[in-house]
Amino acid sequence: MKQRRELEHYVKDFDIREIKEIQNPWTEVPEVIGLKVHEGFMCMFEGCHHLRTTLMSIQKHCQREHGWTKSQGIHHVDTN
Ligand SMILES: [Zn+2]
Repeated sequence: MKQRRELEHYVKDFDIREIKEIQNPWTEVPEVIGLKVHEGFMCMFEGCHHLRTTLMSIQKHCQREHGWTKSQGIHHVDTN
């Protein structure tokens, strides 16, 4: 019975640690450090040519800077 409780404690700790790792935005850091001009997405709005590393961030850029919505179609190009 004591062993089982210890195991439950261990599992609980493990779960908490996993959730923290998921919430931690560490995955975005290597992308920024490893940024290469030819890898990522480029904004295709006239006169902009803004570069972002991920599809999500280029879409965010288009929404914020150009009032873009998905219904307008794709306004960025994959430069990989
Ligand atoms: Zn743009």
